[in-house]
Amino acid sequence: MAAVRDNLQRVVSSLPAEGVTLVAVSKFHPAEAVAEAYAAGQRHFGESRANELKAKAAQLPDDIVWHFIGHLQTNKVKPVVAASSLIQSIDSERLLRAVDAEAARQGKRIAVLLQAHVAREETKFGFLPEELDEFVTPEMLASLKATDIVGLMGMASNTDDTSRIDADFAELRSIFNRLAAGPFAGNPDFKILSMGMSHDYPLALAHGANMVRIGTDIFGQREY
Ligand SMILES: *Cc1c(COP(=O)(O)O)cnc(C)c1O
Repeated sequence: MAAVRDNLQRVVSSLPAEGVTLVAVSKFHPAEAVAEAYAAGQRHFGESRANELKAKAAQLPDDIVWHFIGHLQTNKVKPVVAASSLIQSIDSERLLRAVDAEAARQGKRIAVLLQAHVAREETKFGFLPEELDEFVTPEMLASLKATDIVGLMGMASNTDDTSRIDADFAELRSIFNRLAAGPFAGNPDFKILSMGMSHDYPLALAHGANMVRIGTDIFGQREY
C-alpha cells in the first residue's frame, strides 16, 4: 500500500506548513490502511461509525488521535466517548447532553465540535445557524459537566458549483466568528473550524479552515 504513503505526502504538502490539522478519514478502509498512514507519520484519523471506531482503536497504536465525524445515535455514545479525542459531529442538544453525561460517567473530559448545517441538502445533519444562536448560551455552556466545545464543523453542499461551495464555507466561517465573539468570547479553547473534504478543501482553507477531513485523496475510493 505504498499508494497511501504517497497520497498522504501529496495531501500534506498541499497544506500550509503550520496551523492546519489534517484528519485522515479512514472510514470503510481496513486497519492496515490506517497502519500504513500511521507509519508515514499521520496521527489524526476520522471514523464515522461507532463499531468500526471501536474495532480499529482496539488494534491500532494508542497514540492515534481518533476523531468521530459521523452521525452519532445516543445509544452508541459510550464506545465513541471512550475511544475519541474529538467528537466533531454534535448535531443536537440531546446528543450533546448524552455525550456529556457519558463522559462524566467515564471520568474523562471530552472535546467536541458543534456541527452546523448550511448545505442545501436534506440528508445532512447539524444545527441550523439560527438554532445555534438560540441554543448556545453561556447558561447552557455552564451546565456542561465534562464537555469542552472547541469549535465548529460543517460541510459544503455536494456539488460542482464552486460558487455554491464558496458561499457555504463563507457562511460556516461567519457562524464560527459569531460564536467566537458571542457565547465563547474570552474562551481560547473555542478555536477549531473543521471544514473541507477531498474535493473542496483548498476552498475551505481559503475561508479559514484550520482542520480538514480528507479520506478519498489519501485512501482511495470507499467500498460501502
Ligand atoms: C467521509 C467524510 C469526509 C471525507 O470525505 P472524502 O470526500 O473522502 O475526503 C469528511 N467529513 C465527513 C463528515 C465525512 O463523513
